Amino acid sequence: MRAVLLNHLAHTRPLIIAGPCSIESKEQLFATTQALAATGLVHALRAGVWKPRTQPDCFSGLGEEALAWIRELKAKYALPVLVEVANAAQANKALQAGVDGLWIGARTTTNPFALDELFAYIAKFDATIPVLIKNPLAPDLKLWIGAVLRAEKAGLLKLALVHRGCACYPNYANLRSEPHWELARAMRQAYPKLPMLLDPSHLAGTRELLLPIILASQDLALDGLIIESHINPEQALTDKAQQVHPEQLCRILEGYFQAEQNVLSANMLANYRDLIDVLDQRLLQLLLARMQVVEKIAHVKQHLDLPLLQQERYANMRKQWQQLAQGENLQNQNLQSQFLQDLFELIHNESLRRQQLQLNKSAYSSE
Ligand code: PEP
Ligand code: MN
Repeated sequence: MRAVLLNHLAHTRPLIIAGPCSIESKEQLFATTQALAATGLVHALRAGVWKPRTQPDCFSGLGEEALAWIRELKAKYALPVLVEVANAAQANKALQAGVDGLWIGARTTTNPFALDELFAYIAKFDATIPVLIKNPLAPDLKLWIGAVLRAEKAGLLKLALVHRGCACYPNYANLRSEPHWELARAMRQAYPKLPMLLDPSHLAGTRELLLPIILASQDLALDGLIIESHINPEQALTDKAQQVHPEQLCRILEGYFQAEQNVLSANMLANYRDLIDVLDQRLLQLLLARMQVVEKIAHVKQHLDLPLLQQERYANMRKQWQQLAQGENLQNQNLQSQFLQDLFELIHNESLRRQQLQLNKSAYSSE
C-alpha cells in the first residue's frame, strides 16, 4: 500500500486523504473507513493514534491499542493509512504496525529537537516512507522550511506539505486558525515540486466553514485535501465540531470538484458570502484595535504637549500607504491606489476625531 500512496502523492490530483481525527474504537475506525471507501472519492486514510491535545485530561488517542487494527483495516479496504507521529518511539511503533505514511503535526514542526530525532529514525527505517510536514503553529516560513531541510538532511526522499493555518489569538473571526495564505504561497514558491495539501478541518474548526475555506484556497492550486471524517461526528471524542460524516464529505468534495471545473453555482455564492462575512469581521476587529491604539496616543501627545496632527508623521503615513498601493509591500497588486488613498484619509480623519474626543474627555475630568 505504500507504493499506492507514493503513486497518489506523485500523480493523483486532487488527492483526497480523509479519516477520523482520532481512532476511538475498532467499530468507529472500521465503520468510518467502510463509509469513506464506499464514496469512491478517498485515496488514503488519515487516523490519529497519539493526539497532541491543547488541554490535559482530554482524550489523547488509543496509542498501540489502535495500531493493532491497522493491518486488518488495510487488508479489508485496500486504502493506504497515514498516522501522526511526534517522536521516534511513535514512528517505530507506527511503522512496525504497517502504517504507509506519516505526518508531522503543527506542534512538532515547531520543535527542531523532536524533528531531528524523528527524521533520523524514519530515514534509518526506510527513507522512502512518505512524510507529510504540516506548517508550524506560528506563521514562520523559516521554521517550516527548516523542517523540510532537516528532513532532507536526514535523507528522507518522499516529502509533502500540509497547510493547516496558524494559531491565533484572539480568534480569527469564527475560524479555528488564521489562514495565512501568504505562508502557503511562499512555501509553495520555495518548494514548487513538493505536493502541498490543504487541511481545511484544523483551519476552519467547524463543518460549515470547510467548503468556504477550501474554495478560498483555490487561488493556490494546491494538490488536494487532508480532511477529518467520522462515522458519528456528534459523538466524536476529539474535534467534533469540524469532523464530517462521510456522506457530508461527499457533498463538500462535490463543491470542491465543481470549483475545480469552474462551475459557478448558487451554492458557491453562499459559500463565498460566508467567507466575506468572516473577512469583514476581521476588518472591523482590526479597525477597532487601531482606534484603541490611537486613543492611547492622544494621551501621550497631551503629556508631551504635542499637537494632534503632526505634519511630518502624516506625510510619512501617506507615503507608506502610497507605496502599499503601488504593490511594494503587497503580494496582490490589484488594490487601486486611489481607493487606498481614500481609505487612508477616512481612517486618519476618524483617528483624529477620536483623539480629539479623548482629549476633550480628559480636559473635563481634570477640571
Ligand atoms: C491532526 O491532524 O489531527 C492534528 C493534530 O493537526 P495539527 O497538527 O495541524 O493541529
Ligand atoms: Mn483533529
